[in-house]
Amino acid sequence: MKSRVLSGMRPTGALHLGHYHGALKNWVRLQDDYDCFYFVADWHALTTHYEDREVIERNVYDMVIDWLAAGVDPERATLFIQSRLPEHAELFTLLAMGTPLAWLERMPTYKDQMEKLKDRDLATYGFLGYPLLQAADILIYKAAYVPVGEDQAPHVEITREVARRFNHLYGRIPGFEQKIAAAIVRLGKDDARYYEKQRKAYGETGSAEAIAKGEAIVRKAAANVADWTEDETELLLGHLKGSGKTVLPEPQVLLTETAKLPGLDGAKMSKSYGNTIAMREEPAEVTRKIRGMKTDPQRGRRTDPGDPERCPVWQFHQVYSTPEVKDWVVQGCTSAGIGCLDCKQPVIDAVIAEQAPWRERAAAYLDEPKKVHWLVEAGTERARLVARQTMKDVRLAMGLAY
Ligand code: ATP
Ligand code: MG
Repeated sequence: MKSRVLSGMRPTGALHLGHYHGALKNWVRLQDDYDCFYFVADWHALTTHYEDREVIERNVYDMVIDWLAAGVDPERATLFIQSRLPEHAELFTLLAMGTPLAWLERMPTYKDQMEKLKDRDLATYGFLGYPLLQAADILIYKAAYVPVGEDQAPHVEITREVARRFNHLYGRIPGFEQKIAAAIVRLGKDDARYYEKQRKAYGETGSAEAIAKGEAIVRKAAANVADWTEDETELLLGHLKGSGKTVLPEPQVLLTETAKLPGLDGAKMSKSYGNTIAMREEPAEVTRKIRGMKTDPQRGRRTDPGDPERCPVWQFHQVYSTPEVKDWVVQGCTSAGIGCLDCKQPVIDAVIAEQAPWRERAAAYLDEPKKVHWLVEAGTERARLVARQTMKDVRLAMGLAY
């Protein structure tokens, strides 16, 4: 069975090059080797855009078309819409019970976004809960990997903490304590004491060495103790790490090599900064935008030599240009051998070339909106099967399976 990948995006506007280079590129790459689940995070969009339902409505399917344009393959990946799966809300509610408020308040994205989106009132319950809702989205599919941009990494980290806490609180099977005690007795007196010592060390320091030593004791028992069972091994290995059973596995973040693509002004490319180039922006518009980019502020005249390190165009060269072009830029810029418009041209050409296949694939889907709805429908039902199963496990673990 392939391990699962999960990621989502908010339908708050046309996707831009930052979304492609930061996340979508990985989405496309991962579908060969993983069971990929990609979803429209419309509830997450509401956390900041609760006053703009038209924006969200307009962008849901348009964003799916951007994904398909980028090369996401609906035959291999499961595409769905968050709000169609109330199971996410149920898990969010259950996780909310034991999640310390301070974990959410200290999220760097929380303060950053409040600061950045000053025109919106984000002192809401929903916005504070953004990362926890994301944790529910990830954990409900027991995802192993989460491909996102750098700004999202703290959210995957809190998801890991939430999972760890859940497993610690509820990852106990019925009769767990008795079964553990019985297995420990069977290790023999000295080994039992040594095992407990390692378990304690791991609990306090998280040391991998303690785990290895504890595991060695268990493996020794498996080899030497008469009718030692698989079950006893499993039980003790889980116990060693502080839980009986992993109900919700901890996911890992996957970043691309351009986890943070700068925008036209050099700051992170972002819809709310108005510094974006959309994935399906018209070539004439791409040309206009890049030609209009500010360059090294100290290169006032064509004859002044410049410094690429002070120029946002140079950051685009890092993503789009070959080593030869980059050498040409450094040489030409620092010697005033080329002008800024000369320097911008290879970037313009590279962006337009990159967009060509996207535009072509999108056109095919734009002609058949029903087809896009249908494949999201199919994906939503596939996701529902997995989400329902996890909720059964979660309710059972929490004692809610009356
Ligand atoms: P924006 O940041 O443009 O306002 P958004 O925050 O509404 O977009 P999200 O749905 O939060 O969009 O982000 C979708 C994905 O794209 C996330 O994985 C995010 O990390 C990534 N991403 C967004 N902008 C960039 C960027 N400039 N560089 C790299 N990755 C990015
Ligand atoms: Mg974002």
